[in-house]
Amino acid sequence: MTRCVFFDRDGVVNQSPGPGYVEHPDAFILQPGFVAAARLAMARGYAVAIATNQRGVARGIVPQTTLDAIHARMVAELSGQGITLLGIYCCTHERNTCTCRKPQPGLLMEAARQHDLDLAACWMVGDKESDVEAGRRAGCRTVLVSPPPETTRATLVVPHIDLLAEALASVL
Ligand SMILES: [Mg+2]
Repeated sequence: MTRCVFFDRDGVVNQSPGPGYVEHPDAFILQPGFVAAARLAMARGYAVAIATNQRGVARGIVPQTTLDAIHARMVAELSGQGITLLGIYCCTHERNTCTCRKPQPGLLMEAARQHDLDLAACWMVGDKESDVEAGRRAGCRTVLVSPPPETTRATLVVPHIDLLAEALASVL
């Protein structure tokens, strides 16, 4: 069975667009801290996958073709950095209409089905508690990349993306 580190997209892989959405490939700004973390994960024998909510598609703000172009840019930039993704698992649905929108675990479960992942040996890394919850519900260990909140159910809290690779090095 394969083990994998799932990374949330906005705020982890790329700079957070704030309360809105990345609406154009040029607005997708890869974070060096993610690149370092993904490289570390691969070097430790983990696959790397993305698990992202993109409700802007359901809301008509981000056309699917634009989302595809953004992800093509992401794949190309990561490839240039030596990073290959196991998959991009993306929920484009409206709230309460599916079983894959984080904090639900559907994206991770789908990846596990496709790639025979051992979810208990996988990690979910995100910048929101909903990422942590999705990981927990899938049976993964979790990393919250955020200034420490008052409460979190994350296995590990890392206060800044630039510290993620170092933190993962001690647990992967
Ligand atoms: Mg995020």
